[in-house]
Amino acid sequence: MNIPVLTDILSANNLIAEQNRKLLDDHRIYMVNLLSSPGAGKTTFIEETIKRLDLAISVIEGDVASDVDAVRIKKLGIPVVQINTGGSCHLNAPMIQKALENLPLHKTDLIFIENVGNLICPAGYKLGENISLVMNSTTEGDDKILKYPGIFRVATSLIINKIDLLPYLDYSLEKINENFLKLNPQARIFPLSSKTGEGFDEWIKWIRTGVDNFCNKLKSYN
Ligand code: MG
Ligand code: ZN
Repeated sequence: MNIPVLTDILSANNLIAEQNRKLLDDHRIYMVNLLSSPGAGKTTFIEETIKRLDLAISVIEGDVASDVDAVRIKKLGIPVVQINTGGSCHLNAPMIQKALENLPLHKTDLIFIENVGNLICPAGYKLGENISLVMNSTTEGDDKILKYPGIFRVATSLIINKIDLLPYLDYSLEKINENFLKLNPQARIFPLSSKTGEGFDEWIKWIRTGVDNFCNKLKSYN
């Protein structure tokens, strides 16, 4: 039986995640954990969000190897830390703790974590985030919610990316909406295209409101 070992690992992780949260609260920083399978378009989505959102944003890039995504973000003049997990298929709270030491926290309103592309275990590791965004792109097919319910259950919102390709694909937005809301009735769904910009207004309004509400809540405690 190795279940108790896994429980220990997760509770040690959660303890560090709470420390991360405390540090970010002290600096009034909102943190988003972005999850999807590889190739869904997370980096492009973050780039397009940075261009439209009038906040001081930093990014933490999680990949098994390479710094190609961090190089893209750096081109926008945004502080970025690349984490290479060296084979591990998810980020954990200690990796984020280390990354936070290398970001200008006193000058940051919002941190995007681009998690390792994987629809399974990242869902089990809290990082200290305010919200988890799960992305499904139209090119992946509309069956992922049924196949990987765990990650869609923890999502605060669902981003459906690449809707500009809908005319060419057998992808049913209705089916995705229905399956997702069955698992997660409180969550929001944002169909959008990082390529054409369609659907971004709604998403930007929602994330902006989330950050504002978070800051107001912290103020009311002081
Ligand atoms: Mg990427
Ligand atoms: Zn993993």
